[in-house]
Amino acid sequence: MAGIYIHIPFCKKICSYCDFYKTAVVDLLPDYLEALETEIEIQKDYLAAESVETIYFGGGTPSLLEPEQINRIINRIRRFHPIASDCEITLEANPDDLSETYLADLYQYAPINRISVGIQSFEDKDLLVLNRRHNARQAIESIRHLQKTGYYNISVDLIYGLPGMNTESWQKNLDLVISMGVQHLSAYHLSIEPGTALSRLASRGLLQLADEEESCRQFALLRKTAAGNAFVHYEISNLAKEGYFSKHNTNYWMQKKYLGLGASAHSYNIFSRQWNIANARKYIAAMNHGGDFFEKEDLQLVKRYNEYLMVSLRTIQGVDLEKIRLDYGERSCKAFVHAAQSSITAGFMTAEGSVYRLTENGWLISDHIISGLMEDADGR
Ligand code: SF4
Repeated sequence: MAGIYIHIPFCKKICSYCDFYKTAVVDLLPDYLEALETEIEIQKDYLAAESVETIYFGGGTPSLLEPEQINRIINRIRRFHPIASDCEITLEANPDDLSETYLADLYQYAPINRISVGIQSFEDKDLLVLNRRHNARQAIESIRHLQKTGYYNISVDLIYGLPGMNTESWQKNLDLVISMGVQHLSAYHLSIEPGTALSRLASRGLLQLADEEESCRQFALLRKTAAGNAFVHYEISNLAKEGYFSKHNTNYWMQKKYLGLGASAHSYNIFSRQWNIANARKYIAAMNHGGDFFEKEDLQLVKRYNEYLMVSLRTIQGVDLEKIRLDYGERSCKAFVHAAQSSITAGFMTAEGSVYRLTENGWLISDHIISGLMEDADGR
């Protein structure tokens, strides 16, 4: 069981907070799609004929692709990989691309069965700060158009902790998304990444960021609103109705194999991780003329163990001592129990049988707790 990720790095407008690999040189798209077809063949053995359970078009802006182009990529993947009959196929989309005409064609010509809409906020003033392409009206319309077309597995991305956002405005966003009947919500706290337009504003003191207390209040509101509306908070940043957890992301968190295609895409096969060159022109040139196009890191046991802690403690599945014992040995198992004790005493973690999970307060400082549980290269 494995997943495939396809990176479409093109954006018509660059958002002020974005540090993903993307480019505004949209003219490269036709050559890029040809290069992707070449890479699909080059990497055909990476998943060792495992059944593909999830395909994910991420970006960038995959909704810049025509439905026929999406279908062509999926057919190309089909040629080299067995695709599960219930394969989850997700398209990330910008709200202003989701016109009724586009969606009617998408529904007819491409087997996409899950749409993840990058709304980020339903307030125009937030969308201006984020330099998004769409406005609040288009955000609402995009969901209506999706539902009218017949899509019933819809995810919405929202950002909290935005400059000027308070609990009232965050609650309004949450109420709106829930009232529209979407099945999945990804909610991220704003992160100011180096090299972004927001980071330049912040360094000049021109951005009023949410303080820690306000951020905690907004996170608590997210949990409360979700719980009151039958959404399961199944990972720090992801909430869904029962039966609508993202299969693709869950596979990442369960450390299943995945193949990443396209510029900057990462691949993982349990024993190593590799990442493609983060440059669309160089990626196209490598596909056309040969040459190295990725770097690779072998994952030693300690690194695999640390990654298991990192991804599992962010989910409601938590960490299972039996898995640690089986996959990483008795010594790691004992070390984990010892290191986890102080977090349990402080109320940041619970232990039920062999399963350890972070509490709500633990999720707020998850990076700190998880780094305290990790082992170093000498296994300490
Ligand atoms: S649309 Fe997505 S990938 Fe493109 S700039 Fe905005 S956040 Fe980044």
